[in-house]
Amino acid sequence: MRIAVLIEEKCKPKSDAYDYLKKWAGSCGGDCIQMNGDKFKILESACPPCFIRAKHCPGGAVVVINLPAELKTDMIHRYSLNGFRLFKLPTPSKESVVGILGPNGMGKSTAFNILNGSITPNLGNFEADEVWWEDVIESLPRGELRDFLVDVSNSKVTVALKPQYVDNIPKAVKGRVGNLLSSVDERGIYEEMVDKLGIDHLLERNLSQLSGGELQRVAICATLLKDADVYFFDEPSSYLDIHERMRIVKIIQELAETSRVIVIEHDLAVLDVLADLVHIVYGQKGAFGIFTPARTTRQAINAYLDGFLVEQNVRIRDKPIKFQTHTDRYVASGGEGSDIGHPVVHWGELEKKLGDFTLTTAEGKVHQSEVVGVVGPNGTGKSTMVKILAGELEYDGGWVTADASISYKPQHIDTDMDCTVQTWLDSEIGTTWRSGEYNVNVIRALGVDDLLTKDVSNLSGGEAQAVSIAICLGRDADLYLLDEPSAHLDANARMEAAKAIRRTMEANEKAAFVIDHDVYFIDIVSDTLLVFEGEGGKNGNAEGPFNLREGMNRFLGDVDVTFRRDHDSGRPRINKSLSRKDREQRAKGDYYSFDS
Ligand code: ADP
Ligand code: ADP
Ligand code: MG
Repeated sequence: MRIAVLIEEKCKPKSDAYDYLKKWAGSCGGDCIQMNGDKFKILESACPPCFIRAKHCPGGAVVVINLPAELKTDMIHRYSLNGFRLFKLPTPSKESVVGILGPNGMGKSTAFNILNGSITPNLGNFEADEVWWEDVIESLPRGELRDFLVDVSNSKVTVALKPQYVDNIPKAVKGRVGNLLSSVDERGIYEEMVDKLGIDHLLERNLSQLSGGELQRVAICATLLKDADVYFFDEPSSYLDIHERMRIVKIIQELAETSRVIVIEHDLAVLDVLADLVHIVYGQKGAFGIFTPARTTRQAINAYLDGFLVEQNVRIRDKPIKFQTHTDRYVASGGEGSDIGHPVVHWGELEKKLGDFTLTTAEGKVHQSEVVGVVGPNGTGKSTMVKILAGELEYDGGWVTADASISYKPQHIDTDMDCTVQTWLDSEIGTTWRSGEYNVNVIRALGVDDLLTKDVSNLSGGEAQAVSIAICLGRDADLYLLDEPSAHLDANARMEAAKAIRRTMEANEKAAFVIDHDVYFIDIVSDTLLVFEGEGGKNGNAEGPFNLREGMNRFLGDVDVTFRRDHDSGRPRINKSLSRKDREQRAKGDYYSFDS
């Protein structure tokens, strides 16, 4: 089955793709490539030369792919002749947390809209005047998904959704948190949930005054209060620290004891401990998406990291993602026991007051080629300290010696500008990004080359993140500060970003601070760890950098979570609380095991 998908935003008038398609439109006797107004069509019955022409369309505006013929009967929905196609669906299973693992743009929202009944799938027949649920149901094998869709078609299913981008909620909904939540309390569990999510202190505040993590917890609370048959959580961990992530895991698992729950989650340590089953979704962004049958969570994540889906015989990544033991990295980067690498920044006994909040630090220093992971609870001063080291913020006590120029990626990315990605890159880092190592290791690795003609203001959260990481790494500086780079990136993009940061620091002998809450990301990116402790909003104290083992032990001891290693993939896995491994590791003070 050969399909051609037109990425419409890439073939608008004035683009190279537009001129190219216009040139070939109507050029063959079969009229395979057609132009109608300023829009194009590529027929399914196109002749081989026209498919080849389409394939060579510049700017990646046309995707031509051969799909296995057996998929033909699995097409669930197609938006138009050359539009996005969805194959198969995830199954909302009873009494389970069902995870979805895969990049954005592969049909997760489309699948969600089918499962909640707001799209009646057309099985690929986009021209049909009317589509019938009966046809869809008949096309599926007997089983849980089919039974579920029968109920959907009879309007017997109610659905609650925690949307992906919580930042947008205050634009659509106004009011006090307490009022808003009590008004959606269909289950009569308002007080219990407010307590469980730790948001009592926010009830009097206005929605517009909340930080990202606070907004996330309020949005999760509102979803839990609804009385639904199926609950969808789209990226519930964004902006949350690891304490809060563990708390959400517990609450969502309790919900699944009585309801169907589907979760889209890109923090693999969280997905691993949260989900009972996982559907991987793969395909090509904007072109097609295929949901695989559910596997156990462990198998799914291992296959995803390995990059090869055995059952489907499909490679989803060139190389596997590997986790290593880090003890050598620390020494190599100038840590204790090594005499290479000059200090780039050195500080001691810093003190800073901000309103009711006080930050203190011990002494620490960071060397050339060293990547420091910065970990700790929300509101303990991580961003504040990074801003002090960046010279953006004055401090009240202590000292900093830095003879270093700094490149900073802030937590909140401003995309409110009237230009394309290419112009943004040119204006921030000049034109050198177009070739060389940086182009390969950063621009391409992060998929920024695919975004060049897009307007910055139209970028999705993940796309904006990728571009701003690229800009930060592309500036010439001695010290790079990245505040929550994993936010909104999918699991694969996180690993690519971690590698891009490491490669840039190693190649140029520069140093970086990376604030993040995703343990896999921190594991891959860090040589050393700067650990924050304290009570969010009141006080914070920073110690380190420590080597990864010692840093993780301090950090995870504070969170009260232990990690073992997966014996096949070597990846870290959260232990079930009070399991045998958990108790053994706690007794030894080994919170982050390196033994697989
Ligand atoms: P995800 O939730 O995984 O990011 P979506 O289901 O939102 O993916 O979108 C998958 C693709 O389908 C996107 O490329 C999008 O452009 C396309 N798409 C989504 N909704 C529509 C629509 N109503 N009409 C045409 N194309 C759509
Ligand atoms: P983290 O990055 O660890 O989440 P931050 O450094 O952003 O923490 O903030 C630490 C604390 O300082 C928070 O409680 C925040 O509310 C407070 N804070 C930050 N900036 C200001 C400010 N300009 N005025 C008053 N309080 C502030
Ligand atoms: Mg979506």
